[in-house]
Amino acid sequence: MLPGAAVDQLAGLPPAARTPERLKQVIDQMFALVPLALDAAAGYTLDAERAYPRIARTLIKARYAVELREYAGRLGSVLTAPLATRQPLTQDEHALLQTLRGRLAQLRQQMQAPGEDNPPDLAPVAQRVDTIYFGDGLRLVAAIEQASRAGRPYDMDTGQLAQRYVPTMAPILTLRDELLKEAQTQAHSDHELARRELWIAVLSGAAILLALTLLLLIVRRRVVVPLLRATRAVIRLGNGDYSRDPGGSQRADEIGDMLRALSTLRNNSIERQQLELERQSLIDELRSRANTDYLTGILNRRAFTTAGNQRLHRAQQSKETLAVLLFDIDHFKSVNDSHGHEAGDQVLIRVAAVIRDALRDGEIVARHGGEEFVVMPAHCSHEQACALAERLRELIAREPLTMADGQVLRVTASFGVASATGPAAALDDLLHAADLALYRAKRKGRNRVESAG
Ligand code: GH3
Ligand code: MG
Ligand code: MG
Repeated sequence: MLPGAAVDQLAGLPPAARTPERLKQVIDQMFALVPLALDAAAGYTLDAERAYPRIARTLIKARYAVELREYAGRLGSVLTAPLATRQPLTQDEHALLQTLRGRLAQLRQQMQAPGEDNPPDLAPVAQRVDTIYFGDGLRLVAAIEQASRAGRPYDMDTGQLAQRYVPTMAPILTLRDELLKEAQTQAHSDHELARRELWIAVLSGAAILLALTLLLLIVRRRVVVPLLRATRAVIRLGNGDYSRDPGGSQRADEIGDMLRALSTLRNNSIERQQLELERQSLIDELRSRANTDYLTGILNRRAFTTAGNQRLHRAQQSKETLAVLLFDIDHFKSVNDSHGHEAGDQVLIRVAAVIRDALRDGEIVARHGGEEFVVMPAHCSHEQACALAERLRELIAREPLTMADGQVLRVTASFGVASATGPAAALDDLLHAADLALYRAKRKGRNRVESAG
């Protein structure tokens, strides 16, 4: 049966049937609920304390106030049965009153624990609990207890007790409500503070993120991109590609220094490359000058010796015949004598040009000295060499040589042809044989071809 229903049932009985035992039983039933309610209150306050640690003390005090109110109610209820039945208090009831008063005193002390100041606004309320409940209320209980011990009749019934005792507990409820209100205010301000802190955290987080993004962009622009550019420039320089400048030379930091150094390296490399080219072309020119006859522009004797020996070597390897044609301009001294040394030079230049134009690729012509020339045809037998000599002789004899002053001269030349096959042949021997043949041509009247052997 629920405690409320038990109370209603007891009230419905005639006064004679309301025995102290039944009255006590109903009251005990009602107070059996108290620990449950206190446990529930403790649970809620613990939750609140966890959520708002700063208000823990205030909440604990509010919980003490709740307990205080419950024990005060319990204390009053102990007197209900004896007053209703007008019986003195039993030993057990005296003991219970003592226990409850002890618990109340303990709670009062806990609520005023040293160092734990009540919020200033609550001091008057706490003060009222002290004077009204612990003063007036407990004095009322003590008076009833004394009357019971002295065997005097009580000077009030249960209704009067309720009328006088219950109001003394009101300040406890006020204190409880004020403490809860205080906790609520503190929780609210904590909540506001937390919300402000959350906003600050969110905004500063966003600001940091923005700053990091900006930093990243700056680092990318100022460091990563120039480094990549420098890397590519180094690779290009390493590959000998100097077509592009690394750029960025206007920067006033280490990366600018590096880019400038790369730019200098590129310029030096370009310069070095140019010098290398110039040097190579000088070497080429020197080589060609060393091999060229200064007057006629055809090969000189030195170059002919080199080229002739190479030819001879190849011909020996392929067991081919190698022939040389040696020719000398006839009565050249009289050209000099009659027309001057310069006209003689002109004749040499013109004869060299006529022969060069008449020869095919791979056939060599060189000035052998003075007004003597040598021709080395390619892949040709002795007879073919003689035929070539004949053709060249005719060409020189037929060609009118126009001088710089407009004079037209005709010259002739005498030819000696020699050839060799096999490993024993030497260039000097070949030339000597051709020279002998040439000498014979001169002796036989000039402007003719003589063959060696
Ligand atoms: P031969 O028919 O016997 O060969 O008579 P030649 O007059 O041609 O021969 P000789 O050896 O008596 O004369 C050759 C001349 O060629 C002598 C020399 O002054 C001239 N001579 C040699 N080299 C040059 C040159 O480079 N320029 C000019 N203008 N004359 C040269
Ligand atoms: Mg001569
Ligand atoms: Mg001559």
